[in-house]
Formats: sequence, structure tokens, C-alpha cells
Amino acid sequence: MKTETTIQGLSASLNPARAARKIIGFVPTMGNLHEGHLSLVREARKLCDVVVVSIFVNPIQFGPGEDFDNYPRTLEQDSHLLAEVGCDILFAPSVEQMYGNRPNLTSISVGEVSSGLCGAQRQGHFDGVAVVVTKLFNIVQPGFAFFGQKDYQQLMVIRQLVRDLNMPVEVIGVPISRAEDGLALSSRNGYLSDAERQTAPEIYGTLKTAEEHLHQGQALQDVLAQIRTSLTDAGFVVDYIEARNPKLQMVDRFDQDLVLFVAAKLGKTRLIDNLQVKYSA
Ligand code: AMP
Repeated sequence: MKTETTIQGLSASLNPARAARKIIGFVPTMGNLHEGHLSLVREARKLCDVVVVSIFVNPIQFGPGEDFDNYPRTLEQDSHLLAEVGCDILFAPSVEQMYGNRPNLTSISVGEVSSGLCGAQRQGHFDGVAVVVTKLFNIVQPGFAFFGQKDYQQLMVIRQLVRDLNMPVEVIGVPISRAEDGLALSSRNGYLSDAERQTAPEIYGTLKTAEEHLHQGQALQDVLAQIRTSLTDAGFVVDYIEARNPKLQMVDRFDQDLVLFVAAKLGKTRLIDNLQVKYSA
């Protein structure tokens, strides 16, 4: 596996593959890799000739008071994991390499899909994601790009961005990887104390219970209220609990496929998760 830290170096590494019309697969990450990230890389390995993974903690998608400075940076360990799963090129640029010492004046807002849910809680977050993903797509020029359903809203923002701006890339969504106890894997799980880590799987537990209750015919609003009560009783501070349809439109009853969304804080750590619930008439 090659590691490149500059845009020029990456282009030089990719040019032979481009000239040979190889299919380039791209997995953008912020590093501190776990099985969730690696599942994306494996999927890319299956579909593409050349697999590029980026590790870049993107400052403009963090709000004031969020964890940009403390975000775990574990490049050496990440690099070993990527080599093991068959990544061809790791792109790990500095902030300066990506944004330079000059003003960046272009902003990208993807509209309705980035409002509500995490967009309401984290002002400007998805604009920052849209800019960095656009830059990375222009730098890597992939045929396929892989994103996790763990960040369901982010995946929908990227799909919309790619459609709206005619970006020549196919976006692939990859299912959520979970720990054995159901906790969705996340780099932020490392912030949890031992006691918090014991409590954290309650999010998935309450989502699965909610799914059962919906299938038993309980009203959606009651089920959402039950999730809130269970999580609050377990010690979470809930940011939001919402049901949307798979296109992220609001719903008020269970008469189509739904996605249940949770964002909740445990101590200082903000966790997100979601569960797709199938409807059958
Ligand atoms: P991050 O490093 O948190 O920006 O995540 C990079 C990519 O990995 C994003 O597309 C995430 O949705 C995806 N990802 C993170 N955690 C998981 C997980 N548990 N399962 C599947 N994909 C994930």
C-alpha cells in the first residue's frame, strides 16, 4: 500500500490507473479506523480495481465547542489495518494541503436533506461535509464512492450533491457495523467510560424494541415517546428521536418503510444510530 500526503503525489500514483481506465473506488474517512470503516474498504475492494482511502479530519465540518482538537488521530495503526484489507493508496493530507493558507470562499448547501436531524443540531456541519467531499471527489476522481448507513443523513446529502451537480461517481451505501452487543461502531465510542460503554448499546436495544412495537401495531408517536423515556431513564440526554421515510421526508404514521433516528449524549459523548424498519401491508 502506498501512502500519499499531497494532491500532486496522489495524482502521480493514480495516473497510470486512470490511463488504463481502471475503476477507482474511494472511501473517505476521518481515521481512527474500526470494522465499520473496513467494511466499506472491503466493499470497494470487491467492486473496484484500485481502492483509495482518505484520512482527513475536516475542520470545517466541526462546530465551535465540538471535538475537532481531540478527535482521535491514529494514522500508524490505521495504515496497518488498511494494508491488511487490501487498500491500494492511503491519502492522508494535512489541513494546509486541503485548504491552503488562503481564504476558501466557496460554500455548498445541499438544502432540505441537510436540514433537520443532525443538520439542526450541528449548524453548518453538512455544508462542511459537502465541501470536503466535493474537493476529495475532484482530487481522487473515483468511479465509486462508499459511505456508511451509520451516517444515514450524510449518505443522503452526498447522494443529493452528486445528483444535483452531475458528479460522475456512483455512491454506494454500506450497512451499519455493530459490536456484538449492538452498539454501532464509531470512532467516538472511544470517548466512553467503562460504565458508559455498558449503557451505550441501549440505543440499539430501544430501536429494536421500537421496531417490534411498530410491527405489533402501536402508534408511531407512542413508540417514539417510549424510545425517549427508555433512553432518558438509562441516563442519556436525548438530542433527537425521529422517524422519517427512507428519503428523509417527515412521516406521522407507520404506513411505509421508515428509518428511526436517534442522537443522544452519554456524558460528553454524542452518539447517533438509526434503524430501517420495513413496512408490509
Ligand atoms: P468517519 O471516519 O466517522 O467520517 O466515517 C467514515 C465513513 O465510515 C462514513 O461513510 C461513515 O458512515 C462510515 N462508518 C462509520 N462507522 C460505521 C459503521 N459502524 N458502520 C458502517 N459504516 C460506518
